[in-house]
Amino acid sequence: MHPDLKAVIELQQLDQQVAELTVLIDSLPTQIQTLQSQLDDFIHAHEERKKRLAANLKERKDLEGEVKVIQEKITKHKDQLYQVKTNEQYRAMLKEIEGEENNIRKIEDQILEKMIEAEDIQKHVQEAAARLEGEKARVAAEIKRLQDERQKDLGERERQQARRKEVAALLSESVLALYERIRTNRSGVAVVEARDGLCTACNVRLRPQVYNDVRRNDAVLTCENCSRILHILSLLRSRPRAAIKEQWLVNSC
Ligand SMILES: [Zn+2]
Repeated sequence: MHPDLKAVIELQQLDQQVAELTVLIDSLPTQIQTLQSQLDDFIHAHEERKKRLAANLKERKDLEGEVKVIQEKITKHKDQLYQVKTNEQYRAMLKEIEGEENNIRKIEDQILEKMIEAEDIQKHVQEAAARLEGEKARVAAEIKRLQDERQKDLGERERQQARRKEVAALLSESVLALYERIRTNRSGVAVVEARDGLCTACNVRLRPQVYNDVRRNDAVLTCENCSRILHILSLLRSRPRAAIKEQWLVNSC
């Protein structure tokens, strides 16, 4: 295989890997933020429920206070029943007492509703409280894992970038310039496989003469349609290094 072609294939592979690593590395802050806001939402909902529970308790106390006030009124009115002078006054007083008792029943219904609501909120508060520490630990562990992964990816990217420098230095200036130009114009993909007479990037059939020349892998040739550099055995897919080396050996023989 032509040394420039071999180098350009590795360069493409390295650039691909660097690009993939960069996507992973750059996506990390968003992933951490997402995790953090999930936890924040959980804590916020928990706090809101606790506030609702406290408010519910206060509302119940207020209602109970209202009942007490009305009960005192009823007691007073019942005492007054014995002091009224006319039947009319007596009936009016009874009616008032009846109205007050109705009010108490209405308020007691409200208290009951509040109690049912409180039971439901209480259940959720207890569940969330039981889960909270676990959630915090889970998120912290996940963030730690992502940060470790990022460190690993950063190290790996540095290694790939160092290797890229070495490989780029092996290339003739003109081929390196050609590679960089195509890479810029073709969304990062400058070197592709030719297979079954086709350019696998643009799917255009190569002229038989061109395909035959490409098959020899002994020159840097480009697709007449998309301008990408062509070669026969694709070494660009993520395969184990050993397998790639093997292919090179086979191809070089
Ligand atoms: Zn093409």
